[in-house]
Amino acid sequence: MPEINPLAIAQQQLDMAAEKLNLDPGVHAILREPMRTLEVNFPVKMDDGTVKVFKGYRAQHNDAIGPAKGGIRFHQSVNMDEVKALSMWMTFKCGVLGLPYGGGKGGVVVDPRTLSQSELERLSRAYFAAISSIIGPDKDIPAPDVNTNPQIMAWMMDEYSKYSGGVCHPGVVTGKPIIAGGSLGRSEATGRGCVIIIREAAKRLGLSLKGATAAIQGFGNVGGATARLLAKEGVKIVAIMEIDGGIYNPDGINPEDVLEYRKKAGTINGYPGCREIGNEELFALGCDILVPAAMENQITKENAGQIKAKLVAEAANGPTTPEADEILSKNGIMLTPDILTNAGGVTVSYFEWVQNFMNYYWTEEEVNSRLEQKMVEAFERIYQMSQDYQVNMRVAAYMASISRVAEAIKVRGWA
Ligand code: NAD
Repeated sequence: MPEINPLAIAQQQLDMAAEKLNLDPGVHAILREPMRTLEVNFPVKMDDGTVKVFKGYRAQHNDAIGPAKGGIRFHQSVNMDEVKALSMWMTFKCGVLGLPYGGGKGGVVVDPRTLSQSELERLSRAYFAAISSIIGPDKDIPAPDVNTNPQIMAWMMDEYSKYSGGVCHPGVVTGKPIIAGGSLGRSEATGRGCVIIIREAAKRLGLSLKGATAAIQGFGNVGGATARLLAKEGVKIVAIMEIDGGIYNPDGINPEDVLEYRKKAGTINGYPGCREIGNEELFALGCDILVPAAMENQITKENAGQIKAKLVAEAANGPTTPEADEILSKNGIMLTPDILTNAGGVTVSYFEWVQNFMNYYWTEEEVNSRLEQKMVEAFERIYQMSQDYQVNMRVAAYMASISRVAEAIKVRGWA
């Protein structure tokens, strides 16, 4: 169990917005817990012939608006409360973007770095088979998250289709490889969406992206794409932090080069022209934009006071604790919340799902321009709400989203 319980945080964030909205107590109670959770223990044959039993979870927070939607992560610290919190954030993320989904999330307790490729395939298939009774293209549609990727989605889709009387169901997962029904633009959609939100927020701050400086924590799918696309907008990336160390160069780092370097070196450490930095120093850097793109609970009451950035863009899910949120607000630092900032991924997942049902596929330009439109609209709606109610962007995002889900709950007669 992590030190700071993400479910308690998600519930606290909900409670705060519920109070501002004067939310119906019945609706509030429905939204405080996922409507369905499943814990599975499933066997996997390892390469050496032994059998190991792994633990996995799936949580479906709410499906008042549509089927549950949300990623699957493979990580040694996955636990039920984390999965529940992440499923809750997904409901509100889909609400912020106005997507016809509720929230879901799943995970397996495993460090995938300890598995061979064939063990990873057997584990992915076995987990999906174990949760398949509650999954389906119009029930619950998983996608990649931490340590899962398009290949894993392809195995999961294949596994599901096997048990469906030979019917191919590409719409059962999103984030698939293009050849297996994936959408163009999906792989970098979360990062692209983050950059759109950063651009819109910077406009409100009067900050020009050309020459602005940024520090990125977590250089994976989301952090890597965000850094690369920010650099294209003229932002100078001065620091990148990874799990095993960070690099800093006040004159700027080329993220494309770092990605190439890591392919060969297996780490970003030792990248030429940079000096090493740690997480605390990264947060305290006097740069304009800070992008936490790694894991939950990174910005806490211990380090929030040191943050000097003008804008914190939450690319990761749940990187800021509520106490830290307050400190940032007090210090006049603008924060764009996770459920808005990183919603580009689920938005293009939605486009992928729509394309799967239509069996007609869009060009990358079409995907990107629809993403741009949805993200800008969502930003404007949430920013306006924060101004109208004099609340920070997180509370505004929750308020907008909860109102939408509450309306569906009411109209369906649940409360
Ligand atoms: P990823 O596994 O590709 O990347 C995460 C990176 O963070 C890894 O490179 C890891 O080494 C690094 N990391 C982990 N702990 C760290 C630490 N303490 N300090 C510095 N670096 C650390 O995962 P991802 O898909 O990029 O997801 C990152 C975050 O974004 C997660 O919170 C995830 O839930 C969220 N997210 C992902 C997507 C998506 O489309 N992949 C969509 C929305 C939100």
